[in-house]
Amino acid sequence: MDHSQTKQQKPVAPIAFDNSYARLPAHFHAAAVPTPVSEPWLIKFNRPLAEELGLDADALERDGAAIFSGNVIPEGAEPLGMAYAGHQFGQFVPLLGDGRAILLGEVIDSNGKRRDIQLKGAGKTPYSRRGDGRAALGPVLREYIVSEAMFALGIPATRALAAVVTGEPVYRERVLPGGVITRVAASHIRVGTFQFLAARGDTDGLKVLADYVIDRHYPDIKGHERPYLALVEAAIERQASLIARWLCVGFIHGVMNTDNCAISGETIDFGPCAFLDAYDPAKVFSSIDRGGRYAYASQPAIGQWNMARFAETLLPLLDAEASEAVNLANDAIAGYGARFQAHWLAGMKAKIGLQTEEDGDLDLVQGLLNAMHRNEADFTLTFRRLCDAAEGSAGDGPLRELFANAADIDAWLSAWRERTGREPLSDAQTAAAMRTVNPAFIPRNHRIEQAIRAAEDDGDFSLFEALNDVLAKPYEDQPKFAAYAAPPQPSEEVLKTFCGT
Ligand code: AMP
Ligand code: MG
Repeated sequence: MDHSQTKQQKPVAPIAFDNSYARLPAHFHAAAVPTPVSEPWLIKFNRPLAEELGLDADALERDGAAIFSGNVIPEGAEPLGMAYAGHQFGQFVPLLGDGRAILLGEVIDSNGKRRDIQLKGAGKTPYSRRGDGRAALGPVLREYIVSEAMFALGIPATRALAAVVTGEPVYRERVLPGGVITRVAASHIRVGTFQFLAARGDTDGLKVLADYVIDRHYPDIKGHERPYLALVEAAIERQASLIARWLCVGFIHGVMNTDNCAISGETIDFGPCAFLDAYDPAKVFSSIDRGGRYAYASQPAIGQWNMARFAETLLPLLDAEASEAVNLANDAIAGYGARFQAHWLAGMKAKIGLQTEEDGDLDLVQGLLNAMHRNEADFTLTFRRLCDAAEGSAGDGPLRELFANAADIDAWLSAWRERTGREPLSDAQTAAAMRTVNPAFIPRNHRIEQAIRAAEDDGDFSLFEALNDVLAKPYEDQPKFAAYAAPPQPSEEVLKTFCGT
């Protein structure tokens, strides 16, 4: 490892911070200065993202080890931890807060959007409780890979600007190398941020936060007759859409606590997340999810549960009459199911090449999923190979191989061909459209694990680099990376994932 980067001259990389959260009432946050580390080393810097943020990429790359470790605080930063509460596996905790994340500040990106820049793993904050404020390198690499992969898949997610090794150990079940990830988010406001204020009975604070969120994330609502009800509805819409998109790529978040549910509608916190290999709606990877609360197919219902917790916090703002406020909230929450179903069905129909609407479409989608489940077919490969089958039955072979009982998929394929025969597009056009929604590459759990092992055990980041490269273009075939499309060998299979906190 080349540690020459640590011998810094005074860093000069300027960041044009414009911090609005720091101006919100004092109890919303607490000052938190990163704790310097001994030997920081920049392992990854996301140049395109830096440019999108309007930052000086050359200067940041040069000074990255110091800045992205928290050793040097760029001018204009106002480092703070955000206060939030949260339901963790259903249990309410009135104060969590950023225990190992420090918001450096906000910038206005090249599209005029306000974005948070946050260091995760940069040391203790007033909210650290018994934690050390640190992150192990493994979870840093995992978050980098998966959050960037989600972006490339077209799914709203926080981004990764940089990853650093600290040169210091962190103590978990075993001693691990420490890391810091620099995360970029539309904001880090969560359902739990609202719950924090609601639990204190702070209606004035709730109004301030709700107005701030409307302004920052839902500006179309401004001037609405009932802006807070409109906020609940808009947040529900984004959450329903987000979770539908997760399901369409086989993503399992793993820890959908209300403190890990961003009000912006971005995917946030990539702790024990994982992707399906074989399709199984009850699949759980997270070691701490013993009851399967956050199983793959439970996610839509949990999204609704989280949105109900959000709506609850705003009851005092929804109507002066308590019973009317409850009615309005209930109606909004009841609307989640239909919204989710519409997004999910549209997504799944696109995956099987359907653009028009017919009564039997839901059954057709469900029929494929049932056959996949019975045959333990790989989720990603099934849909990608279906794109080849769309070009004609000559393309069926590789798809049939995924099904232990090929007759099962044959029966479905004939029903599907009858249905797609009534679609207006040509077979080639249908296949091309399907390839834009059915990725060839997802961040397979075993590949992430291999990349982490090589980095942690041998200081070898080449697998991490390769994985980031291939996942940047998930919808392209990339023959030289063909091995990355494959499911794990039995010996490679990842059975459990860990939060890594
Ligand atoms: P998570 O479920 O991992 O998002 O974290 C839940 C809560 O635990 C949040 O308030 C985190 O800030 C806090 N936390 C997790 N790991 C640490 C750590 N190593 N040090 C301090 N706080 C932590
Ligand atoms: Mg969290």
